[in-house]
Amino acid sequence: MTRPYPPEPFRIKVTESIRLIPPEAREAALKEAGYNLFSMKAEDIFIDLLTDSGTGAMSQEQWAALMRGDESYAGARSYHRLKAAVEDIFGFKYFVPTHQGRAAENILAACLVKPGDLIPSNMHFDTTDANIRARKGRPANLVIDEAHDPANPHPFKGNMDIAKLKAFIAKYGREKIPFGMITVTNNAGGGQPVSMENLKQVADVYHEAGIPFFIDAARYAENCYFIKERELGYKHVSIKDIAREMFSLADGMTMSAKKDAIVNIGGLLCLNDESLFQDIRNELILREGFPTYGGLAGRDLDAMAVGLYEGLDEAYLAYRLGQTAYLAARINDAGIPTIQPAGGHGVYVNAGAILPHLPNYEFPAQALAVELYREGGIRGVEIGSVMFAYLDPETNAWNYPKLELLRLAIPRRTYTQSHMDCVADSLAEIKTRADKIRGYKFTYAPELLRHFTARFEPLNM
Ligand SMILES: *Cc1c(COP(=O)(O)O)cnc(C)c1O
Repeated sequence: MTRPYPPEPFRIKVTESIRLIPPEAREAALKEAGYNLFSMKAEDIFIDLLTDSGTGAMSQEQWAALMRGDESYAGARSYHRLKAAVEDIFGFKYFVPTHQGRAAENILAACLVKPGDLIPSNMHFDTTDANIRARKGRPANLVIDEAHDPANPHPFKGNMDIAKLKAFIAKYGREKIPFGMITVTNNAGGGQPVSMENLKQVADVYHEAGIPFFIDAARYAENCYFIKERELGYKHVSIKDIAREMFSLADGMTMSAKKDAIVNIGGLLCLNDESLFQDIRNELILREGFPTYGGLAGRDLDAMAVGLYEGLDEAYLAYRLGQTAYLAARINDAGIPTIQPAGGHGVYVNAGAILPHLPNYEFPAQALAVELYREGGIRGVEIGSVMFAYLDPETNAWNYPKLELLRLAIPRRTYTQSHMDCVADSLAEIKTRADKIRGYKFTYAPELLRHFTARFEPLNM
């Protein structure tokens, strides 16, 4: 049964036109892009659910804050306003701004990861994974097994498997693990939250072993709202107090502010250790900029300072997570399975279940992504064999991911109920002709991160 749609806790003051181009124009645009939605022009997209990263709508308070931006090279007022917000919400002793989340990850990895080191997490996001590998370290994903079962309704599917974490530390030892992480919410696992109980256990395990604990906090506010809704004892605790409790367990955090701080660009790196902070500042000066602006303009710092509080607003979060749950429920009502329960920032459609006649080497999730654009001018992103299949150098055989998913990520405060209905209706329409949908083959594919630039051709039936 479809959930009620939560009325938006805002009204619209500025608009940006979007248009659904005619079917023939959509077909031509697909062909020109080699059937890769990353290669399309944004102006040819009607509803863009490629990512929720940096694509949200800023508030009037944030736009006003931009005008207060102080562009002094050092010690700008904007920096001090951001510092006050960061200290108030996260409570760490030190912080630096960065231009994105991955810049914070790069600096942390540059300062701490040595070749052969191991960094455990529930699941690393792909940029975190890559930044650890770039320093010749090895990321490890130790999420609970339930996370891999798309139908399992576990309320905290982002949780770390504590037994696996203990065994991992016992096997490799503290010397090989310069820090440990956890991602809230677990983006790579469907935007699923981590419980406070699990966070406490993770912190205890790391700290008993003497390992510093860093949180990847990109969607911490959405995670805190799930804790309030689903975990015993938090119903009457404010989101900000839940956040304070969460971060009091850790020694630091990295954050992409393009998510829960609702800005178009920005990131944070926070920590308590003074000597590590000295190293981080030096690395920041080399890579990003002076420590009081870290690769951003003063106005960006001000927009972030305001957005951090707006991201914690309970009425906003109820609407935000309600919108995602509504879209998932409408898609499920059409008989189309999605990862259960609905995550925070997007709906993950099980493309393999809609297109069972397509084997993974014909890229069912890619076929569904193309079809959704063809049907409604809607752009999602393939999270399946195009993105993750790899040729195993030892066996010389292709290794395919377990699931073929189409992710529909929802930008913050950007689309309305009728847009969500349009997405669900388009998928329902596609389902009626699913057996006629063809698979795809590559006509060009680079070796690494091939989903960004690959080109495809439809296969004959
Ligand atoms: C987006 C994201 C990042 C990387 O942040 P960028 O701002 O895109 O560099 C890291 N971790 C998680 C969980 C993310 O969602």
